[in-house]
Amino acid sequence: MKKVAFYTLGCKLNYSETSTISRMFENKGYQKVEFDQTPDIFIINTCSVTENADKKCKKIVKEAKKISPNSYVTIIGCYAQLKPQEIATIKGVDAVLGAAEKFRLIELLDGFAKEQEAKVLASEIQEATVFNNAFSINDRTRTFLKVQDGCNYGCAFCTIPLARGKSRSDSIANILDSAREIAASDVKEVVLTGVNIGDFGIQDGKRKERFADLVTALDEIEGINRFRISSIEPNLLTNETIEFVSRSKRFVPHFHIPLQSGSNTMLRAMGRRYLRELYEDRVSKIKTLMPHCCIGVDVIVGFPGETEELFLETYNFLNELPISYLHVFTYSERANTRATEMGGVVPMKVRNERSKMLRILSEKKRRQFYQENLGKTYTVLFEEDVEEGKMHGFTENYIRVSAKYDPMLINETKLVQLVEINEKGSVDIEEPEIVYEKH
Ligand code: SF4
Repeated sequence: MKKVAFYTLGCKLNYSETSTISRMFENKGYQKVEFDQTPDIFIINTCSVTENADKKCKKIVKEAKKISPNSYVTIIGCYAQLKPQEIATIKGVDAVLGAAEKFRLIELLDGFAKEQEAKVLASEIQEATVFNNAFSINDRTRTFLKVQDGCNYGCAFCTIPLARGKSRSDSIANILDSAREIAASDVKEVVLTGVNIGDFGIQDGKRKERFADLVTALDEIEGINRFRISSIEPNLLTNETIEFVSRSKRFVPHFHIPLQSGSNTMLRAMGRRYLRELYEDRVSKIKTLMPHCCIGVDVIVGFPGETEELFLETYNFLNELPISYLHVFTYSERANTRATEMGGVVPMKVRNERSKMLRILSEKKRRQFYQENLGKTYTVLFEEDVEEGKMHGFTENYIRVSAKYDPMLINETKLVQLVEINEKGSVDIEEPEIVYEKH
């Protein structure tokens, strides 16, 4: 029995895809092992957004060859689609597969027999038109369910459309089947995942279904306690979806909405499809209906043309908004994007300083949000990690809580009262009584 190991870089989508590909291997009789358990085959799923993707990829290949010198090393993922020839020259790589090929790798690399030269099977990205469904079952608590792939937008800084192709989605019927399968495996929380999930519904190049109908249908699935919408573009987050979440049985009050900049000048330069007024309106709609809702924000600092004044516009905008945390990205040049041709390049030192300012703001926002929720009662889903005798979990509105470790609580939900913010930044709760709700 051949042994296969996986390594994943990047986003939730990559994790869901690695997980599905690993199940394909297991179904064909391969044995899935850990990276250091001398595998015969390595599958490395790469990311193009990761800083120094090339260096990371080389490092992992080197590590793999150290563990199993005669192993077969295959590179897939966004970076593999963008730079297949370059990757093929990395010492130790046996095959590189693009976006249109990665789900067929067992059949395409028939037997994984080593050859003199690395095999490159990466069609042009226009060929990646098929939707391959995927979901992760790595830990028992939470699953990433892929519902959409690719993107038809062309933001000036982004390589994702070049690496993943046009927007396309699974059908609602298929997604419901996957959700039922996940429910049967005792997973309690499902995170809907995609590149641009608000654009859900395109099949074979035509818009056939709507995101609002997908969430409504999923809400009826028995056996899954929680659904989380991972990240959704503000211009695609409709009143209908917000209102639905506010009365949903299973969709939790948590949105992650990319902003990227709080300056309209920058939003236009980035090619984003909204202005700050629309963003403000979305946040206000959410908070009016769900004052306890958690709102996460993606923001990029140091994009070309971002002067001190324009950065401060972003800072002040975020400071005023009732948001709960930020994911801060320091802009870095990516080949084949429009942004690399723009003037007004921001020195790296300034980019880093701005990033630091926003990270501090993020901590302040998170603390404020936690503070507002102290004394309230929420449901926590406990996870497997243990740290210094403590276990953790998240409330439905994404507050990280800490409790004394009790193995019986893993993957269980429990009603708790939030008591105080501890020195690690999590929230301590009333010691759970030993009353388990089994769903
Ligand atoms: S919406 Fe913009 S940033 Fe997001 S994947 Fe599409 S092109 Fe990239």
